[in-house]
Amino acid sequence: MTGRTHDLAGFTVLHYVLLAGSVPQMSIATAIGAIGANMIGSLAPDIDQPTGELWNKIPAGSILGRLITPILGSHRMISHSLVGIVITGYLLRWLLAILSHTIIVDMSVIWWTFMIGFVSHITFDTFTKEGVTLFFPIPIKIGFPPLAFFRIQTGGIVEKTILYPLLMLSNGYLVYANYTAYLPLLQKITHQ
Ligand SMILES: [Zn+2]
Repeated sequence: MTGRTHDLAGFTVLHYVLLAGSVPQMSIATAIGAIGANMIGSLAPDIDQPTGELWNKIPAGSILGRLITPILGSHRMISHSLVGIVITGYLLRWLLAILSHTIIVDMSVIWWTFMIGFVSHITFDTFTKEGVTLFFPIPIKIGFPPLAFFRIQTGGIVEKTILYPLLMLSNGYLVYANYTAYLPLLQKITHQ
């Protein structure tokens, strides 16, 4: 699945969680950071591709990408697995704890929004023909539906003309069905 679709899919899941869950009070900086963390999390599993979109977004990314990707194995291995989710969760918690000394944002919100993007990426990749090695190191590709024939081609016509518009519509529907919920949500953002 392309980075563009992953970004939108991660945001759509976050949008749903925001409306369904209980959102804590947060600063403007935390709210902005949360949206950024969700976008990065939505692209992060593809750091195992030197051409991954995340690498294009950071300085010297293409060089870093070529250094790091061989460590993670071939595409869609550990970074697209349950083990990968747990390791990423721990590493991120550790990294955010260090950053919290210099950056004043609610790191638990940042952690959750990143992980929502990360898990949504892996979930959406299961709908593609390649599938994912969800139970890495067991080298079995998992996909849904189980028959690859019914799954979609990354960057193909179904992704562009059906899935992407469907995700846009889902966001539109969420706004339409919950429009009274947004003001209380915005009031959770405090000016500090
Ligand atoms: Zn992927």
